[in-house]
Amino acid sequence: MKEITCKLLVVGAGPGGYVCAIRAGQLGVDTVIVEAKKPGGTCLTIGCIPSKALIHAADEFEKVAHIAAGKSPLGISTSAPSFDMSRAVAWKDRIVSRLTNGVSGLLKKQSVKMVHGQAKFRDGKTVEVETETGTQIIRAENIVIATGSVPVELSFLPFGGPVISSTEALALGAVPKQLAVVGAGYIGLELGIAFAKLGAKVTVVEAENRILPLYDAELTRPVAKRLGELGVEVLLGVKAQGLDPKTDQLLVDAKGETRRIAADKVLVTVGRKPNVEGWGLEELDLDRSGRAVRIDEQCRTSMRGVYAIGDVTGEPMLAHRAMAQGEMVAEIVAGKKRSWDKRIIPAICFTDPEIVSAGLSPDEAKATKAEVVTAQFPFSANGRAMTMLAEEGFVRVVARADNHLVLGIQAVGRGVSELSASFGLAIEMGARLEDIAGTIHSHPTQGEAFQEAALRALGHALHI
Ligand SMILES: Cc1cc2nc3c(=O)[nH]c(=O)nc-3n(C[C@H](O)[C@H](O)[C@H](O)COP(=O)(O)OP(=O)(O)OC[C@H]3O[C@@H](n4cnc5c(N)ncnc54)[C@H](O)[C@@H]3O)c2cc1C
Repeated sequence: MKEITCKLLVVGAGPGGYVCAIRAGQLGVDTVIVEAKKPGGTCLTIGCIPSKALIHAADEFEKVAHIAAGKSPLGISTSAPSFDMSRAVAWKDRIVSRLTNGVSGLLKKQSVKMVHGQAKFRDGKTVEVETETGTQIIRAENIVIATGSVPVELSFLPFGGPVISSTEALALGAVPKQLAVVGAGYIGLELGIAFAKLGAKVTVVEAENRILPLYDAELTRPVAKRLGELGVEVLLGVKAQGLDPKTDQLLVDAKGETRRIAADKVLVTVGRKPNVEGWGLEELDLDRSGRAVRIDEQCRTSMRGVYAIGDVTGEPMLAHRAMAQGEMVAEIVAGKKRSWDKRIIPAICFTDPEIVSAGLSPDEAKATKAEVVTAQFPFSANGRAMTMLAEEGFVRVVARADNHLVLGIQAVGRGVSELSASFGLAIEMGARLEDIAGTIHSHPTQGEAFQEAALRALGHALHI
């Protein structure tokens, strides 16, 4: 049996783990990282990046199909496009390879040792890894658990055959003719919208009475409208029950009545859960917060020298949170004084239109008992949005009424994901409405709607 000792061992090379290892390497910490699959984790291989590649391909296809149908006012005409799913998937796979190879290169550049295989804890300082060449023992002063998350499976709709998770949906050989999506959270709707644009007849089944339950109704209304335009049937307050074994139709309980939904694929996207199995959590007996590994403001678990970061620590399960935690823990292990001091973690839904939420919504802000001022500026009054046929949606600011400190910024509209950086920066830097209103925003850009929302909250919007 081979043995390695190191100062820092990272288990899992997703965005949390690989960022932690790169930063530790930069700081001269002797670091080993173990990965069972590919570097990059869920995010680069089966999550953020592949889904955004499919969404982009679907957007481009739908744009051309729209023009071909003679519906575009832009004076462009063309004949009907066709779509080759396997070529699009191959293109997506090339992007994934470039990124995963890039991560390997970055780790190597910082002298991080990569061990391929499934890691299992023996105790809080020792991990054994089943590698292709035998068992590898790794002893470390500090260990970071970055094992990520896995899709939630429904007992009455187990994955297999026509029932798929987002992982299989991102690697299909052809666009399903009829797709049923169970769960109207962000993953289900991002993928459901993409497949609808590619020509699938999509039905979304959601047990709650609204789509995207984590976002407020004002933000989700334009997405609901677009789902209707794309011919996506959304069944709210309806529970999936299982597959009809004879016809493979999805059976749902629609307010007491069983309904059948024809589908050649049933995509189950009812959430993700911390991956706490298969790496020896039992050996460590760490404190938990529900299913997640409990951490403090330095990502320390209940065992000395053992940290946890990313999805395994629970919500919000987002790649940029995992990366920020990874960077912080690397610095702590290197001896720097760090603790979690972020004001917000922005969240984006890459639906059509996109939604961004940074900080508190109006209702959340009101719940703090502070007196609150909110204002929104619609893209229908924004010149750049008009020139892009993107007038649906708005930017909204939420601020304290007394000192105008910005508490939250949200937007819904085409391409608003790119505004999330300035929203995050404003809140992180403690901006007040006057700071945003007083910053020159280039013209013509959708970002001007942000400045105008702040001006409107101050009572003197210029373009509405
Ligand atoms: C379809 C989809 C779309 C998404 N889109 C977005 C998005 O747009 N933006 C966003 O912020 N987030 C998005 N996410 C979520 C994002 O992917 C996760 O939040 C992020 O990947 C979490 O990073 P992580 O490092 O905690 O874990 P992961 O990325 O899950 O990585 C964990 C790694 O650990 C490895 N591992 C696990 N156990 C072991 C073991 N015992 N030994 C060795 N290796 C092990 C796994 O193989 C994996 O590579 C999406 C997810 C999905 C599924």
